[in-house]
Amino acid sequence: MTAILSNLQATRLAVEKAAESAHRGLGEVRLLAVSKTFPAASVREAYQASQTAFGENYLQEALDKIAALRDLPLEWHFIGPIQSNKTRPIAENFAWVHSVDRLKVAERLSAQRPSHLPPLNVCLQVNVSGEESKSGVAEDEVEQLALAVARLPNLKLRGLMSIPAPAADEKSQRLPFARMREIFRKLNTRGMGLDTLSMGMSHDYPAAIMEGATIVRIGTAIFGARDYGEKQ
Ligand SMILES: *Cc1c(COP(=O)(O)O)cnc(C)c1O
Repeated sequence: MTAILSNLQATRLAVEKAAESAHRGLGEVRLLAVSKTFPAASVREAYQASQTAFGENYLQEALDKIAALRDLPLEWHFIGPIQSNKTRPIAENFAWVHSVDRLKVAERLSAQRPSHLPPLNVCLQVNVSGEESKSGVAEDEVEQLALAVARLPNLKLRGLMSIPAPAADEKSQRLPFARMREIFRKLNTRGMGLDTLSMGMSHDYPAAIMEGATIVRIGTAIFGARDYGEKQ
C-alpha cells in the first residue's frame, strides 16, 4: 500500500469518526485533498484511491496539473489568494473557488465564466479571528458581500470558508469555527440557502467538524509535509 493510499484511508476514517461524535450524518462532510506543491503523479495516486476533489493554491502550478490530468474526471477547487488580473484562468478551469473576498473578483469570475460550463461554485473567505492575514472579508461586511455575489449570474454562492489562526487545543480551535457557524446560520435566516462551510485543515479538522464544517481541506495528513523549495 502506498503512503498516499494509507493516509487517505486513515483520514477518511478520522473524518467519519469526528462526524459521528458530532452527531452528523454519514456523508455530510466532504474531504477536499489539498495537493499544492505535490506533483500530478501524487494526485493520480490519490485518484486511484477514489479521491476526486482536489484543492490548489497557486494558479500556475494548478493549471499545469489540471492540464497533465485532463484524462481523469477530477473536480478542481481554487483555495488560494486571488489577484484580480488572474481571474480568467480560474473561471475557465475550476469547479469551485473558496477564497472570494471582494466583489471585484466575484464580478470578474462571473463575467469570465465560459457559457458552456455550469455556474462556478463559490465560497466567501471570512477573516473570522481577525488574524493578521490580509485575506478574507471582515465579519461585519460578509452579509453585504454575500447579497451582491448571490446576484451574479454565472456564480453559485455555496457558503463560507475560513482559515483561522492556529490554536493549541481543540477547545480554542472551536471558537472561530463556532463564529463561522453563527454567521452562516444568520445568512441562511435571510434566505440565502447556503449549504457549504469550508473549514478545517490537517491540524484542526475535528474541531471544524464539531462546529458544522461540510468541506474539510486537508493536505499534509494525506500527501505528507510540503517542501516549498524555490516556490514563494
Ligand atoms: C495548504 C492549505 C490547506 C491544507 O493545509 P494542511 O495543513 O496541509 O492540511 C487548506 N486550506 C488552505 C486554504 C490551504 O492553503
